[in-house]
Amino acid sequence: MTTSTPQLAPSKRPLDAFIAFVAIVAVVTSTVVFALERHHGNGSVNWILFGAIGFLLVVTEATPSAALRFGSEGLVTPSWAFAFALLLLGSPASAIAVMAFASMISDIASKRGIDRLVFNAAQVSTSLAFGSLTLFAFGVHGPIFDPIRLSLHDGIAMILSGVVVFLTNGIIIGLLLTFLERKRFMAIARQGLMLSMTADASMLAIAPVLVVSVQVSPLMVPLLGTTALLVFLTARQALHRAHDADHDPLTQLLNRRAFLGALEEFAASSTHENGAAIFILDLDKFKEVNDRLGHRVGDHVLQQFATRLTAALPGGAVVARLGGDEFAVLVRGASADEAGAIASRVHASFGDPLQVDGFPLSAASSIGVAMFPEHGSTPGEVLHAADVAMYRAKRYRSGVEVFESFGTAREHGRVSLLADVAGAIEQQQFELLYQPQIDMRTGTLDAVEALLRWEHPIHGTIAPGEFIGLAEQTDLIGPLTSYILERALRDLPELPDTCRLALNISARNLQDRHFARETLDVLDAAGVAPSRIELEITESAIADDPELARLAVEEFRAAGVSVTIDDFGTGYASFAMLRDFHVDRIKIDRSFITSAQTSERNTEIIGSIVDLAHRLGLEVTAEGVECIDIWNLLTDFGCDLAQGFLVSRPVAINEIRALAAETWFATEPIASTGLAS
Ligand code: C2E
Ligand code: CA
Ligand code: CA
Repeated sequence: MTTSTPQLAPSKRPLDAFIAFVAIVAVVTSTVVFALERHHGNGSVNWILFGAIGFLLVVTEATPSAALRFGSEGLVTPSWAFAFALLLLGSPASAIAVMAFASMISDIASKRGIDRLVFNAAQVSTSLAFGSLTLFAFGVHGPIFDPIRLSLHDGIAMILSGVVVFLTNGIIIGLLLTFLERKRFMAIARQGLMLSMTADASMLAIAPVLVVSVQVSPLMVPLLGTTALLVFLTARQALHRAHDADHDPLTQLLNRRAFLGALEEFAASSTHENGAAIFILDLDKFKEVNDRLGHRVGDHVLQQFATRLTAALPGGAVVARLGGDEFAVLVRGASADEAGAIASRVHASFGDPLQVDGFPLSAASSIGVAMFPEHGSTPGEVLHAADVAMYRAKRYRSGVEVFESFGTAREHGRVSLLADVAGAIEQQQFELLYQPQIDMRTGTLDAVEALLRWEHPIHGTIAPGEFIGLAEQTDLIGPLTSYILERALRDLPELPDTCRLALNISARNLQDRHFARETLDVLDAAGVAPSRIELEITESAIADDPELARLAVEEFRAAGVSVTIDDFGTGYASFAMLRDFHVDRIKIDRSFITSAQTSERNTEIIGSIVDLAHRLGLEVTAEGVECIDIWNLLTDFGCDLAQGFLVSRPVAINEIRALAAETWFATEPIASTGLAS
């Protein structure tokens, strides 16, 4: 039989009311069946046969292994074959009683809640009661089978009765899911019908054959049993396959494909007042667990995470594992406030560590929340929005972030901005500006850093900080970086021959195994000496996947491209990284430089970074040099290169030659404020 299995949410009033309603219908219809059976009598019921089949029914229901879970939606067991057979044997009231009993036994064996128990028993009783009433309507009281031949009239009664059982059961489950998942009834009916058809219908169809054969000769039973078993196994296999296609094998949650399907379906069916919340969850430091404790422990963490996550969510929430350590949730009909509250509750539920193989392991996650349709008109857009929020939650270690739009100045949301990126490449809306890096010993131009600007037709110039981070979370960063490379190489002839070109590379680029090879090929094709190119990569890009990053860096350096660690001091810089990562230069983050004079500690840190780098044979660039005092301070520390507004803001390529012609601060003694000495 097909029984609904989603977790019931006891707090949901309409749901409780629905369960009560089904229970009342079950009692009323069963009583009517009982009364009618008493009134008309039940002919000559073969009680031995009834007992045998009833026994089989209870046994199959009580054996959980006979059942197969599919989706969040149900179970298939062979019990409908036995239940309907009992109905046809002539005592519908007894059939209902046995089936209700079997259902309760099954729910007790599976330790389901009382609401589930009541609902399931009521559901099967009601279905069978309506089937019985159909038989009565045809004047069938008692066994309908002449062992030798079945009359057309009885045949029709029997078929209709089966159809009524099937439909009643389907409608009750459909209604339950409507309450639970807030989907439209028809959507559920369309979805569920195919699965129910294969399983329940085949089981119901076998019942009459079972009854007839048994009465012809007990010898038929093993033969029929074999056929029935094959039908059952085939149906089960079909469900298995349907299940596997939609589920993640490790956690048994929905997979990415199925989650997107659920989103699409919701987007297609819902109206604006009936929105939904989408969460994206990403475990913090999962990679570390996996690397240090092995994949087996990693798998257990994911499984337990999935279990605890599901338990922390309200009934009816759709939960999926998108891949790796990323999960997603769809809560239909939630307002933004409710969604935020649910997300915070989920986050709090991971306050206690998981117990994995006896070890306490933290499973904290960062959660991004976005609302449909406020934050995007398509599922893809809302997912991006949730992703952006999740990324924020990670960056600020805030646990939960609800997506915010871009701000009042831009009525365009970030997400639609992101949607513009692809078109912007095509329409050449991106500009590269170049900012000089001066060799502090000679005062001459050593390199320029290419910095991206977006000339947006509506929003004007947009700084990279506003869209690079977004693009990095999507596949768009690939084409964007290729485009920047191509543009910069076209500008290269405008630079003095001795000047290097520094390009910023995203974490996401380094995770692409082919990135280094392809970039080197582009240089080769353009006839550019690799030594003229420098790549700036951030510490966090390395931290994301050190192994992949290392391979890429080695490949670049082997070819002669130099590599700089950008924003040094802000990310996860550790001595281990400096030990294991061979680079050419480090670039001290501008937050240290612009505030160099604010505290002695800060000044000491800069000096120590310069020392450390030099001991390791690395050059040091200071970025964000805005005034001469800091320049002097850096000169005293022996810093190699300086970049900042003091020399120049980022400028168009045709302005670089004029800047290159000058000698910066090195030759003349410089007035200083004492701090420099
Ligand atoms: P970044 O790599 O740290 O780049 C330096 C940023 O500091 C630039 O901001 C630059 O304009 C700014 N800056 C330079 N000198 C000074 C100064 O003296 N004072 C102050 N306050 N700021 C200064 P911008 O151009 O807005 O770029 C921001 C970030 O966007 C960059 O940080 C980089 O991470 C990213 N980015 C820029 N262009 C690209 C690109 O082509 N590809 C990638 N992947 N990222 C890029
Ligand atoms: Ca940079
Ligand atoms: Ca930087």
